[in-house]
Amino acid sequence: MEDIVLSTHGLTRAYGRALALDGVDLTVRRGEIYGLIGRNGAGKSTLLRLVSGQSVPTSGSIRLFGKTGSDLRRERARTGVILEAPSFSPFLGARENLEYYRIQRGIPGQDAVEEALELVELTDTGSKKFKNFSLGMKQRLGLALALMSRPEFLLLDEPINGLDPEGVAQFRELFRRLNQERQTTILISSHVLSELSAVATCYGFLERGRLLEEITAQELRERCQVCLRLQVDDAVKASVIFHIKLGTDAFKVLPDNTLELYDHLDCPQAVSQALAEEGVFLQSMERRGSDLETYFLDLIGGGHHA
Ligand code: ATP
Repeated sequence: MEDIVLSTHGLTRAYGRALALDGVDLTVRRGEIYGLIGRNGAGKSTLLRLVSGQSVPTSGSIRLFGKTGSDLRRERARTGVILEAPSFSPFLGARENLEYYRIQRGIPGQDAVEEALELVELTDTGSKKFKNFSLGMKQRLGLALALMSRPEFLLLDEPINGLDPEGVAQFRELFRRLNQERQTTILISSHVLSELSAVATCYGFLERGRLLEEITAQELRERCQVCLRLQVDDAVKASVIFHIKLGTDAFKVLPDNTLELYDHLDCPQAVSQALAEEGVFLQSMERRGSDLETYFLDLIGGGHHA
Protein backbone atom coordinates (compact mmCIF):
# COMPACT_ATOMS: atom_id res chain seq x y z
CA MET A 1 0.00 0.00 0.00
CA GLU A 2 2.82 2.42 0.94
CA ASP A 3 4.21 1.99 -2.54
CA ILE A 4 1.13 3.53 -4.09
CA VAL A 5 1.22 7.31 -4.02
CA LEU A 6 -2.07 7.90 -5.80
CA SER A 7 -4.96 5.68 -6.72
CA THR A 8 -8.38 6.62 -7.96
CA HIS A 9 -11.35 4.32 -8.06
CA GLY A 10 -14.27 4.93 -10.40
CA LEU A 11 -13.39 8.61 -10.43
CA THR A 12 -16.11 10.51 -12.25
CA ARG A 13 -16.78 14.19 -12.80
CA ALA A 14 -19.81 15.46 -14.66
CA TYR A 15 -20.40 18.96 -15.97
CA GLY A 16 -24.11 19.06 -16.62
CA ARG A 17 -24.79 15.92 -18.62
CA ALA A 18 -21.27 15.63 -20.02
CA LEU A 19 -18.76 13.40 -18.26
CA ALA A 20 -15.34 15.07 -18.18
CA LEU A 21 -14.07 11.97 -16.33
CA ASP A 22 -15.80 8.65 -16.50
CA GLY A 23 -14.97 5.94 -13.95
CA VAL A 24 -11.20 6.35 -13.92
CA ASP A 25 -9.11 3.76 -12.03
CA LEU A 26 -5.57 5.09 -12.06
CA THR A 27 -2.53 4.05 -10.05
CA VAL A 28 0.71 5.98 -9.57
CA ARG A 29 3.45 4.10 -7.71
CA ARG A 30 6.23 5.67 -5.68
CA GLY A 31 9.23 6.67 -7.81
CA GLU A 32 7.35 6.70 -11.07
CA ILE A 33 7.29 9.39 -13.73
CA TYR A 34 3.74 8.85 -14.90
CA GLY A 35 2.85 10.28 -18.31
CA LEU A 36 -0.85 11.05 -18.55
CA ILE A 37 -1.43 11.19 -22.28
CA GLY A 38 -4.58 12.59 -23.82
CA ARG A 39 -5.78 14.92 -26.52
CA ASN A 40 -7.29 18.30 -25.77
CA GLY A 41 -10.46 17.87 -23.78
CA ALA A 42 -9.66 14.27 -22.78
CA GLY A 43 -10.02 15.12 -19.09
CA LYS A 44 -6.40 15.56 -17.94
CA SER A 45 -6.89 18.89 -16.18
CA THR A 46 -10.12 17.66 -14.62
CA LEU A 47 -8.28 14.70 -13.12
CA LEU A 48 -5.51 16.90 -11.74
CA ARG A 49 -8.04 19.36 -10.33
CA LEU A 50 -9.84 16.55 -8.49
CA VAL A 51 -6.63 15.09 -7.08
CA SER A 52 -5.41 18.50 -5.93
CA GLY A 53 -8.74 19.35 -4.31
CA GLN A 54 -9.65 22.23 -6.61
CA SER A 55 -12.77 20.42 -7.70
CA VAL A 56 -14.91 17.65 -6.18
CA PRO A 57 -15.77 14.32 -7.80
CA THR A 58 -19.32 13.54 -8.84
CA SER A 59 -18.62 9.97 -7.74
CA GLY A 60 -15.70 7.66 -7.09
CA SER A 61 -12.77 8.05 -4.73
CA ILE A 62 -9.20 9.30 -4.48
CA ARG A 63 -6.52 7.78 -2.28
CA LEU A 64 -3.31 9.77 -1.71
CA PHE A 65 -0.43 8.20 0.24
CA GLY A 66 -2.88 5.56 1.40
CA LYS A 67 -5.38 8.04 2.85
CA THR A 68 -8.82 8.92 1.60
CA GLY A 69 -11.92 10.90 2.60
CA SER A 70 -11.38 13.62 5.19
CA ASP A 71 -7.68 12.65 5.59
CA LEU A 72 -6.96 13.72 2.01
CA ARG A 73 -6.49 17.36 2.88
CA ARG A 74 -3.43 16.63 5.05
CA GLU A 75 -1.88 14.38 2.41
CA ARG A 76 -2.30 17.06 -0.25
CA ALA A 77 0.30 19.09 1.63
CA ARG A 78 2.83 16.48 0.48
CA THR A 79 2.09 17.27 -3.16
CA GLY A 80 3.10 20.11 -5.48
CA VAL A 81 0.73 21.04 -8.27
CA ILE A 82 0.93 23.26 -11.32
CA LEU A 83 -2.36 23.44 -13.15
CA GLU A 84 -2.31 26.81 -14.83
CA ALA A 85 0.70 29.05 -15.20
CA PRO A 86 1.11 30.75 -11.80
CA SER A 87 0.75 34.50 -11.91
CA PHE A 88 4.08 36.16 -11.25
CA SER A 89 4.72 39.87 -11.05
CA PRO A 90 6.22 41.04 -14.36
CA PHE A 91 8.27 43.67 -12.56
CA LEU A 92 10.00 41.38 -10.08
CA GLY A 93 12.88 38.97 -10.61
CA ALA A 94 12.88 35.21 -10.01
CA ARG A 95 13.94 35.41 -6.35
CA GLU A 96 11.51 38.18 -5.41
CA ASN A 97 8.59 36.42 -7.05
CA LEU A 98 9.30 33.18 -5.22
CA GLU A 99 9.91 34.98 -1.93
CA TYR A 100 6.48 36.60 -2.25
CA TYR A 101 4.83 33.20 -2.58
CA ARG A 102 7.00 31.65 0.14
CA ILE A 103 5.73 34.20 2.64
CA GLN A 104 2.16 34.00 1.36
CA ARG A 105 2.12 30.23 1.69
CA GLY A 106 3.93 30.16 5.01
CA ILE A 107 6.81 28.00 3.78
CA PRO A 108 9.54 28.15 6.45
CA GLY A 109 13.16 29.09 5.69
CA GLN A 110 14.44 31.47 3.02
CA ASP A 111 16.69 28.71 1.73
CA ALA A 112 13.56 27.13 0.21
CA VAL A 113 13.70 29.83 -2.49
CA GLU A 114 17.38 29.30 -3.23
CA GLU A 115 17.02 25.54 -3.26
CA ALA A 116 14.10 25.69 -5.70
CA LEU A 117 15.97 28.12 -7.98
CA GLU A 118 18.98 25.82 -7.99
CA LEU A 119 16.86 22.84 -8.96
CA VAL A 120 15.45 24.62 -12.00
CA GLU A 121 18.78 26.33 -12.79
CA LEU A 122 17.55 29.88 -12.36
CA THR A 123 20.06 31.12 -9.80
CA ASP A 124 21.87 33.42 -12.21
CA THR A 125 19.05 35.63 -13.48
CA GLY A 126 20.34 38.60 -11.47
CA SER A 127 18.06 41.62 -11.68
CA LYS A 128 16.28 40.41 -14.81
CA LYS A 129 12.56 40.98 -14.44
CA PHE A 130 9.99 38.27 -15.05
CA LYS A 131 8.56 40.13 -18.06
CA ASN A 132 11.90 39.72 -19.83
CA PHE A 133 12.17 35.96 -19.17
CA SER A 134 12.00 33.49 -22.05
CA LEU A 135 9.04 31.09 -22.08
CA GLY A 136 11.30 28.30 -20.82
CA MET A 137 12.48 30.45 -17.90
CA LYS A 138 8.89 31.38 -17.04
CA GLN A 139 7.86 27.74 -17.00
CA ARG A 140 10.89 26.76 -14.94
CA LEU A 141 10.01 29.44 -12.41
CA GLY A 142 6.50 27.97 -12.22
CA LEU A 143 8.03 24.62 -11.46
CA ALA A 144 10.30 26.19 -8.83
CA LEU A 145 7.19 27.51 -7.11
CA ALA A 146 5.74 24.00 -6.89
CA LEU A 147 9.07 22.68 -5.61
CA MET A 148 9.45 25.18 -2.78
CA SER A 149 7.38 23.11 -0.39
CA ARG A 150 9.62 20.08 -1.17
CA PRO A 151 6.78 17.87 -2.40
CA GLU A 152 7.06 14.09 -2.52
CA PHE A 153 4.58 13.98 -5.37
CA LEU A 154 4.50 16.52 -8.18
CA LEU A 155 1.48 16.92 -10.48
CA LEU A 156 2.12 18.96 -13.61
CA ASP A 157 -0.44 19.86 -16.25
CA GLU A 158 1.22 20.24 -19.66
CA PRO A 159 4.42 21.72 -18.18
CA ILE A 160 6.41 21.69 -21.43
CA ASN A 161 3.68 22.92 -23.72
CA GLY A 162 4.99 25.39 -26.30
CA LEU A 163 8.69 25.04 -25.53
CA ASP A 164 11.35 24.69 -28.22
CA PRO A 165 13.29 21.39 -28.42
CA GLU A 166 16.07 22.72 -26.19
CA GLY A 167 13.53 23.80 -23.56
CA VAL A 168 11.84 20.42 -23.73
CA ALA A 169 15.20 18.67 -23.26
CA GLN A 170 15.96 20.86 -20.21
CA PHE A 171 12.63 20.00 -18.63
CA ARG A 172 13.10 16.31 -19.25
CA GLU A 173 16.51 16.44 -17.61
CA LEU A 174 15.00 18.30 -14.69
CA PHE A 175 12.28 15.69 -14.20
CA ARG A 176 14.89 12.96 -14.28
CA ARG A 177 16.99 14.73 -11.68
CA LEU A 178 14.06 15.39 -9.37
CA ASN A 179 13.00 11.80 -9.71
CA GLN A 180 16.42 10.27 -9.17
CA GLU A 181 18.07 12.66 -6.73
CA ARG A 182 15.04 13.62 -4.67
CA GLN A 183 12.95 10.50 -5.21
CA THR A 184 10.05 12.72 -6.28
CA THR A 185 7.15 10.86 -7.85
CA ILE A 186 5.88 12.84 -10.83
CA LEU A 187 2.65 12.83 -12.80
CA ILE A 188 2.91 14.86 -16.02
CA SER A 189 0.05 15.37 -18.43
CA SER A 190 0.66 16.01 -22.10
CA HIS A 191 -1.02 15.93 -25.45
CA VAL A 192 2.34 16.08 -27.24
CA LEU A 193 3.16 12.44 -26.92
CA SER A 194 6.77 12.52 -28.01
CA GLU A 195 7.54 15.00 -25.22
CA LEU A 196 7.34 12.29 -22.60
CA SER A 197 8.64 9.30 -24.47
CA ALA A 198 12.19 9.67 -23.22
CA VAL A 199 11.35 10.36 -19.61
CA ALA A 200 8.16 8.61 -18.47
CA THR A 201 8.46 5.26 -16.74
CA CYS A 202 4.78 4.53 -17.11
CA TYR A 203 1.84 5.84 -19.14
CA GLY A 204 -1.89 6.26 -18.74
CA PHE A 205 -3.89 6.95 -21.89
CA LEU A 206 -6.95 9.10 -21.39
CA GLU A 207 -9.60 9.62 -24.06
CA ARG A 208 -13.02 11.22 -23.63
CA GLY A 209 -12.79 10.96 -19.86
CA ARG A 210 -11.90 7.28 -19.81
CA LEU A 211 -8.57 5.71 -18.96
CA LEU A 212 -8.04 3.35 -21.87
CA GLU A 213 -4.87 1.71 -20.61
CA GLU A 214 -2.02 1.91 -18.12
CA ILE A 215 1.27 0.55 -19.36
CA THR A 216 4.91 0.66 -18.27
CA ALA A 217 7.51 2.23 -20.56
CA GLN A 218 9.10 -1.20 -20.91
CA GLU A 219 5.83 -2.81 -22.02
CA LEU A 220 5.30 0.02 -24.47
CA ARG A 221 8.76 -0.46 -25.98
CA GLU A 222 8.02 -4.14 -26.42
CA ARG A 223 4.72 -3.40 -28.12
CA CYS A 224 6.07 -0.73 -30.44
CA GLN A 225 7.63 -2.85 -33.11
CA VAL A 226 10.19 -1.66 -35.59
CA CYS A 227 9.18 -2.09 -39.22
CA LEU A 228 9.91 -1.22 -42.84
CA ARG A 229 7.29 1.19 -44.10
CA LEU A 230 6.80 1.06 -47.86
CA GLN A 231 4.74 3.02 -50.31
CA VAL A 232 4.06 1.26 -53.60
CA ASP A 233 1.78 1.61 -56.61
CA ASP A 234 -0.08 -1.63 -55.88
CA ALA A 235 -0.36 -2.78 -52.25
CA VAL A 236 -2.38 -5.89 -53.08
CA LYS A 237 0.26 -7.15 -55.49
CA ALA A 238 3.01 -6.29 -52.98
CA SER A 239 1.19 -8.37 -50.32
CA VAL A 240 1.17 -11.37 -52.61
CA ILE A 241 4.91 -10.91 -53.28
CA PHE A 242 5.65 -10.69 -49.54
CA HIS A 243 3.68 -13.85 -48.99
CA ILE A 244 4.99 -15.93 -51.90
CA LYS A 245 8.45 -14.60 -52.72
CA LEU A 246 9.58 -13.46 -49.28
CA GLY A 247 7.68 -16.17 -47.42
CA THR A 248 6.25 -13.89 -44.76
CA ASP A 249 2.87 -12.85 -43.45
CA ALA A 250 4.35 -10.40 -40.97
CA PHE A 251 3.07 -7.25 -42.62
CA LYS A 252 0.14 -4.88 -42.45
CA VAL A 253 -1.58 -3.08 -45.33
CA LEU A 254 -2.42 0.55 -44.56
CA PRO A 255 -4.40 3.08 -46.60
CA ASP A 256 -2.85 4.81 -49.63
CA ASN A 257 -0.91 1.80 -50.90
CA THR A 258 1.28 1.80 -47.82
CA LEU A 259 2.51 -1.34 -46.10
CA GLU A 260 4.39 -2.08 -42.90
CA LEU A 261 6.68 -5.07 -43.04
CA TYR A 262 7.88 -6.54 -39.73
CA ASP A 263 10.13 -9.15 -41.32
CA HIS A 264 13.31 -8.88 -43.44
CA LEU A 265 14.25 -5.75 -41.54
CA ASP A 266 17.95 -6.31 -42.11
CA CYS A 267 17.72 -6.80 -45.86
CA PRO A 268 15.67 -4.00 -47.41
CA GLN A 269 17.45 -4.53 -50.74
CA ALA A 270 15.98 -8.02 -51.00
CA VAL A 271 12.54 -6.53 -50.42
CA SER A 272 12.92 -3.82 -53.07
CA GLN A 273 14.39 -6.34 -55.52
CA ALA A 274 11.50 -8.78 -55.05
CA LEU A 275 9.02 -5.97 -55.73
CA ALA A 276 10.93 -4.71 -58.78
CA GLU A 277 11.18 -8.19 -60.29
CA GLU A 278 7.40 -8.46 -60.24
CA GLY A 279 6.87 -4.97 -61.65
CA VAL A 280 5.73 -3.24 -58.46
CA PHE A 281 6.92 0.35 -58.30
CA LEU A 282 8.43 1.24 -54.93
CA GLN A 283 7.92 4.93 -54.20
CA SER A 284 9.54 4.99 -50.79
CA MET A 285 10.83 2.72 -48.08
CA GLU A 286 11.92 3.69 -44.59
CA ARG A 287 12.71 1.90 -41.40
CA ARG A 288 10.60 3.11 -38.55
CA GLY A 289 9.43 2.21 -35.10
CA SER A 290 5.82 2.47 -34.14
CA ASP A 291 6.30 5.45 -31.85
CA LEU A 292 4.23 6.47 -28.88
CA GLU A 293 2.04 8.67 -31.03
CA THR A 294 1.15 5.88 -33.45
CA TYR A 295 0.49 3.56 -30.55
CA PHE A 296 -1.86 6.07 -28.94
CA LEU A 297 -3.71 6.77 -32.17
CA ASP A 298 -4.18 3.03 -32.69
CA LEU A 299 -5.43 2.74 -29.14
CA ILE A 300 -7.98 5.51 -29.63
CA GLY A 301 -9.03 3.96 -32.93
CA GLY A 302 -9.64 0.69 -31.08
CA GLY A 303 -11.61 2.57 -28.44
CA HIS A 304 -13.90 4.06 -31.05
CA HIS A 305 -14.70 0.64 -32.47
CA ALA A 306 -15.41 -0.88 -29.10
P1 ATP B 1 -6.87 20.49 -22.43
O1 ATP B 1 -5.49 20.00 -22.67
O2 ATP B 1 -7.52 21.06 -23.65
O3 ATP B 1 -7.03 21.34 -21.21
P2 ATP B 1 -7.89 18.30 -20.87
O4 ATP B 1 -7.54 16.91 -21.23
O5 ATP B 1 -7.15 18.91 -19.75
O6 ATP B 1 -7.74 19.18 -22.17
P3 ATP B 1 -10.26 19.02 -19.44
O7 ATP B 1 -9.91 20.46 -19.32
O8 ATP B 1 -10.12 18.18 -18.23
O9 ATP B 1 -9.45 18.34 -20.63
O10 ATP B 1 -11.74 18.92 -20.00
C1 ATP B 1 -12.43 17.70 -20.17
C2 ATP B 1 -13.85 17.99 -20.64
O11 ATP B 1 -14.58 18.62 -19.60
C3 ATP B 1 -13.89 18.94 -21.83
O12 ATP B 1 -14.92 18.51 -22.68
C4 ATP B 1 -14.22 20.28 -21.21
O13 ATP B 1 -14.93 21.08 -22.11
C5 ATP B 1 -15.08 19.87 -20.01
N1 ATP B 1 -14.94 20.81 -18.88
C6 ATP B 1 -13.83 21.02 -18.16
N2 ATP B 1 -14.05 21.93 -17.19
C7 ATP B 1 -15.35 22.32 -17.32
C8 ATP B 1 -16.19 23.24 -16.62
N3 ATP B 1 -15.73 23.94 -15.58
N4 ATP B 1 -17.47 23.37 -17.03
C9 ATP B 1 -17.94 22.65 -18.08
N5 ATP B 1 -17.19 21.77 -18.78
C10 ATP B 1 -15.92 21.59 -18.41
